[in-house]
Amino acid sequence: MPEQVRFRGGVHPDDGKSLSQAAAIQDAPLLETYTVPLLQHIGAPPKLVVAKGGKVLRGQRLAEPSGFVSAAVHAPTSGTVKEVTEVALPTGRTGPAVVLQADGEDKADEGLAPLTDWAEAEPQVLKQRIVDAGIVGMGGAAFPTAVKLSPPATKPISVLILNGVECEPCLTADHRLMLEQPEAVLTGARILARVLGVRTVRIGIEANKPDAIALLTEKARGTGIEVSGLRVRYPQGAEKQLIHALTGRKVPAGGLPMDVGVVVQNVGTAVAVAEAVTLGKTLYERVTTITGRPVVRPGNWRLRVGTPYAKALELAGGVSFDPAKIISGGPMMGFAVYSLDIPVMKSTSGILLLAREDVTQFTGEACIRCGRCVDACPMALMPGTLSVQIENERFDLAETWHALDCIECGCCAYACPAHRPLVQHLRRAKQEVMARRRAAENKSKR
Ligand code: SF4
Ligand code: SF4
Repeated sequence: MPEQVRFRGGVHPDDGKSLSQAAAIQDAPLLETYTVPLLQHIGAPPKLVVAKGGKVLRGQRLAEPSGFVSAAVHAPTSGTVKEVTEVALPTGRTGPAVVLQADGEDKADEGLAPLTDWAEAEPQVLKQRIVDAGIVGMGGAAFPTAVKLSPPATKPISVLILNGVECEPCLTADHRLMLEQPEAVLTGARILARVLGVRTVRIGIEANKPDAIALLTEKARGTGIEVSGLRVRYPQGAEKQLIHALTGRKVPAGGLPMDVGVVVQNVGTAVAVAEAVTLGKTLYERVTTITGRPVVRPGNWRLRVGTPYAKALELAGGVSFDPAKIISGGPMMGFAVYSLDIPVMKSTSGILLLAREDVTQFTGEACIRCGRCVDACPMALMPGTLSVQIENERFDLAETWHALDCIECGCCAYACPAHRPLVQHLRRAKQEVMARRRAAENKSKR
């Protein structure tokens, strides 16, 4: 492996991937009902286009984008709209959802025809297909993909990066996808590159997945797509760290990848794009890792959006002992959930159950000023100092000390010997600073 640019900070937690990384992706059997949330992405909620009692086919649109930063939502199977109601979501919030009663036929909608000539298609046509298929970032952020593919003319893009790093411990969905659908990953990369008009395409994969690196390298031969094995260090897959490692370019503080001419897409997103274009398939299912020591058969499943977490866990054989904590996503960036009566969304990369000995209890201990959080922070912040400011409700200071640059990677909390809830503090500060900025903006408009 060539010497690569190393990022500052980071941590090296036990990756916990051995539980599920050898388990091939399995298709989940059809359920009787699905609860499909409308707001599954960052941006404006989509507009409902079905009503109670309406019949729908698999892949048919349930809601359409309500603006530029919005995404369509599609039916995971054929059936009848039972109701539209408010449900609990994995994010800890509530939101409207379509409850779909399956008819058992799983009949597909044929609204989107395959674009077999995509290599000749206009970029705008391909981008519209990505909008029509409701594709959002599958790495967890769920930002509408078409928006990332529409940089302003002042920000020319020269490099597309596919993120196959999957540095989040315990998750193996992207790893399996790269092993089992390498052609779709590469086709998605080529389609995305065509939309952006770029020639340089790089795929970054952490070196702890040598089989995926070897397979994609072999499949990519002759395409011009370069596959790189990257140093195993969390958060190698964070956008800014990944861009730095693969291109040497540094995204400025407060900036975006487009500021240095780069667009990053997850490998799962690339597969969704390939399927939307070559098969006419909308985004109504995804690969999710169900894992953790309490889980009887950890593995990777292709789950339809709207599948209750409880049903997903049944696929993995349930639990052999009571978990101490359930997380939606991975242990570093995921969210603790308090009920399994929540639906799988487009962003559900993992359902992780932790045993008591795997859980760190946060405390109200005072900071001992050891500086470990500062060493661990890949964004060169001072999490300990920020945390004290936030405890004292000094959000003005937190803003000055660059709280908004926090990528919520969790390295600081992982490193803290006093077990202070540093990421939670930073998340709170970011929300508060943004709310204050919006309030000030609204006031100035009046
Ligand atoms: S302050 Fe934010 S970016 Fe820095 S280590 Fe903590 S969570 Fe990560
Ligand atoms: S790691 Fe924890 S105890 Fe050490 S300086 Fe940071 S917040 Fe304080």
